[in-house]
Amino acid sequence: MKITLKPLGNIADEIMEELKDRVGGIFHCPVEIKAGFSDLAQAYTSERKQYFSSKLLASLKKSERDERIVGIADVDLYVPRLNFVFGEADMVSGTAIVSLCRLRQEYYGLAPDEALFLERATKEIVHELGHTFGLRHCPNNKCVMHFSNSLADTDFKEAHFCTKCRPKIIL
Ligand SMILES: [Zn+2]
Ligand SMILES: [Zn+2]
Repeated sequence: MKITLKPLGNIADEIMEELKDRVGGIFHCPVEIKAGFSDLAQAYTSERKQYFSSKLLASLKKSERDERIVGIADVDLYVPRLNFVFGEADMVSGTAIVSLCRLRQEYYGLAPDEALFLERATKEIVHELGHTFGLRHCPNNKCVMHFSNSLADTDFKEAHFCTKCRPKIIL
């Protein structure tokens, strides 16, 4: 099994590298960064000033067996009927997408906190990857598969899988 991270649009190399190391440290499998696509405009919905998550997700074609792909975007994502989503996953194709947009303190008018930002991004990526492995939301609020309704939930949980979820990840 290998995990591929793809920047969608402009994401700093340092951020991609840091996320790659962190995700590799949790899954203990090779993680690669490959070029994504930068044309996000196809998914932009002007009425909402947001990007339709499922549309971007569908553009991430799964290329190989035994691979999981996560697109990393720095735009605000939504799906119909929800104000926003932190990310979305498709178990069938083994692909996921995560937005960095609402993970920064600056988004809420607070002082930047790079360490916190990277921690949040790691949790969201690991969570969506968990879905690509067939995991559902976990009732344990410390487990990375716990559903984050808000960033407070994200900050409370840990970046790894609980003892119930971990064995379900077959690498
Ligand atoms: Zn989820
Ligand atoms: Zn769990």
